[in-house]
Amino acid sequence: MSVEQIGEDWVVGIHYTLKGEDGEVIDSSNGEDPLYFLQGRGQIINGLERALVGKGIGEKLTVKVQPEDGYGEYNPALELTIPRNEFPAEFELEEGSIFELSSDEGESIIARIVFIDGETVHVNGNHPLAGEILTFDVEVISIRKATEAELEHGHAHGKDGSSHHH
Ligand code: ZN
Repeated sequence: MSVEQIGEDWVVGIHYTLKGEDGEVIDSSNGEDPLYFLQGRGQIINGLERALVGKGIGEKLTVKVQPEDGYGEYNPALELTIPRNEFPAEFELEEGSIFELSSDEGESIIARIVFIDGETVHVNGNHPLAGEILTFDVEVISIRKATEAELEHGHAHGKDGSSHHH
């Protein structure tokens, strides 16, 4: 029998609880299926993926992730104002709406509408968790070899590799 350790191209299942700087729980897999991902393909944030290398089933760890290894530093330049008439007519403009925009460099940014002031739409292209130091409490639930399809797609297909997706 061999002891399996997390490394590149293994599909890993974890339970996790994510807390922000004030200790508030932001997200958790508690009461849900574990999160399955393909290690080494950037399916989960960098800092967490790195901390899991070499871990085995049943291991519990607490991982502190700095913004540069998480959702990035907060960038004030991504606080933008866009005239209402630059949005497609069919786009439903409301606070909290998420949409994609391309920067002048052609990079695509996911942005959300913060508020609407008459003809001016205030949007923010920062991830809601940008600039935050994140703490993950993690338990490793499962480790298995990736299937060929998973390696080809670059992501995990659920618990046993047979999960359907679009
Ligand atoms: Zn796939």
